[in-house]
Amino acid sequence: MWDMLLLLGESWKARDTGAADLERLLTVLSSKTKKSPGTLEMLSNRDAIVDPNTSLEARLKSTLFSKTTVNPERVAIYLYSQLKRCELEASVVERFEHHVRDAETRVRKHITGSVLALHNEASATCTSPLQDCDRSLLLLLCDSILLFHNDDKHLLATAETTYLRLQSSCAVDEQLRVLQDIKKGTSPDPALFGAGREECPACDTEIKLENIQEATCANGHTWQRCSVTLLVIADFHPRTCLGCGRKTLMVPDAQAGASTLPGTTATSWLEVVLRAHSLCGYCGERFYTALRRRA
Ligand SMILES: [Zn+2]
Ligand SMILES: [Zn+2]
Repeated sequence: MWDMLLLLGESWKARDTGAADLERLLTVLSSKTKKSPGTLEMLSNRDAIVDPNTSLEARLKSTLFSKTTVNPERVAIYLYSQLKRCELEASVVERFEHHVRDAETRVRKHITGSVLALHNEASATCTSPLQDCDRSLLLLLCDSILLFHNDDKHLLATAETTYLRLQSSCAVDEQLRVLQDIKKGTSPDPALFGAGREECPACDTEIKLENIQEATCANGHTWQRCSVTLLVIADFHPRTCLGCGRKTLMVPDAQAGASTLPGTTATSWLEVVLRAHSLCGYCGERFYTALRRRA
C-alpha cells in the first residue's frame, strides 16, 4: 500500500501524475480489494484474541480500523479526495470515481455492520434502557440496510437481530415485515418507511431516510448527514475530515450520571460510536474542528 502512496507522492511532486500512473494504481487497488479466504480467516483469529475487558469503544475502534478488510478501500477514497484537488483530465478522474463509489459502499457497509454487530453482542447479555439518540442511531442504520444494502444477507441478518432487540421499545413491525419480504425476493418500497426517525432541526417536521448524504424535510430544509451515524447534522461546527472533507458529529459532552452500558464510561451508544471514530471512517485521516465559542 505504501508503495502506491510513494509512487503517487513522487509523481505529484514532479507534477506529472498521468493516466499511466493512475492505471497502475487502479490495478493494484482492485487486486487488493479482492479478499482471499485466507485473509478473512486470519482476521477472525485476530478478533478472537481481543481482550473482553477492553472498553466498548476500543473494541469498536479495533473492528473498524485495525482489521485490514477495508483498508485498501480507505486508501482509494483518500487518494481520490487528493486527486480531485489536482488538475487532471476529467476522463481520468471519472474512471477513478467509478472505482471509489464501490469502495465507499463497502466502507459504509463495514461501519454499519460493525456498529450493529457490537450492539447486538453487548445487548444480548445486558439490557440497559436506550436513550432517544440511540434509538434514532440504531434504527437509521437498520433502515439504511433495508433501503440501500438489501442484497447483503449478512447485513440483513444483523439488522433483523437489532430490530428484534428494539421491538419492545420501538415501532419496528413494519420494518420486520419488509425484511421478510426482502428475504422472499421483493424489493422494498421506500414509501413504506412511513415513520421518519428524525425531525427537522428547523421546523420539527419528519425527515425520512432518502439518501445517506443528505436529509430534506417536507418544507425543503436540507441538512447534511453524519458520515458515520447517518444522523442529521444540526451542529454548526461538526468535525471535518482533513482528507476527504466528510462531516462527522462531535462526541457529545459527558452526561451527568453513571453509564448504564457495560464496559464503557460513555452514557450512550451514540457516544461509543463517535468516540471510536477519532479518525475519519471513510479515509482514515484526522478531523479538524472550528473553534467553538462557549457562552
Ligand atoms: Zn424543516
Ligand atoms: Zn475522510
